[in-house]
Amino acid sequence: MPLYKTPAIILRSIPYSEADRIVTLYTLDFGKIKGIAKGAKRSRKRFGNTLEVCSYITLSFFEKETSELVRLNHCDLIRSFTGLREDIHKLAWASYFIELVDAMTAEKIKNKGLFKLLLIFLDLAEKGILKEEIQRVFEIRLLAHLGYQPLFDHCLRCKKSLSGEKVFFSAREGGVLCPVCAANLPRLIPVSVGTIKTLLLAQTILLEKVGRISFSAQSLKESKAILSLFIEQYLKKELKTKKFIEQFS
Ligand SMILES: [Zn+2]
Repeated sequence: MPLYKTPAIILRSIPYSEADRIVTLYTLDFGKIKGIAKGAKRSRKRFGNTLEVCSYITLSFFEKETSELVRLNHCDLIRSFTGLREDIHKLAWASYFIELVDAMTAEKIKNKGLFKLLLIFLDLAEKGILKEEIQRVFEIRLLAHLGYQPLFDHCLRCKKSLSGEKVFFSAREGGVLCPVCAANLPRLIPVSVGTIKTLLLAQTILLEKVGRISFSAQSLKESKAILSLFIEQYLKKELKTKKFIEQFS
């Protein structure tokens, strides 16, 4: 059994039997993995306080051909993100990012960009940058890393650039339609061109500057509606944190 080592972020951690824990991690080198930490409650030397949700760690693990779960061997803390667990608002934001990553990804598909994205946004949450805009930027960048990026720069059908005030978002087609192409089509959401420009900015803004981004009230409302609808198509399970975070938005 080879031993692997990788940076990882804890997505879920649940007690299992008397002494073990089942842990879901997003890793830099292997994508999402699920494993068992044998004797996690007793072995402070091997696991310490590394197995809390949001912890950023160095993980070493074995893979067993006979088991879907990897065997966690040893974890070292890189950053505990304690601040997230001490403030319910910060925790709501971080839990949403964590749960969205868990719900949108399959196991063992490496995605270094997604790992880095999650780390940057946990850091923003711990710093207390809890604007609703941050959730939307996270969603749109997550979609891009997973290859589901919606197209906002021109009409999906006639390819003309968007002008006027209103266009229409199609969740099924993954982008926007001009009023001519949208005529009489079902299940479209009207959206202002201003919101589309804001979402284009959210797709491209340098993440070091994301704390300063600001949407108009209309763009906040519209972008939430279209991204929620779009993401729902890809969710592998229902999000528990959505209602939780909405109490604080
Ligand atoms: Zn068109």
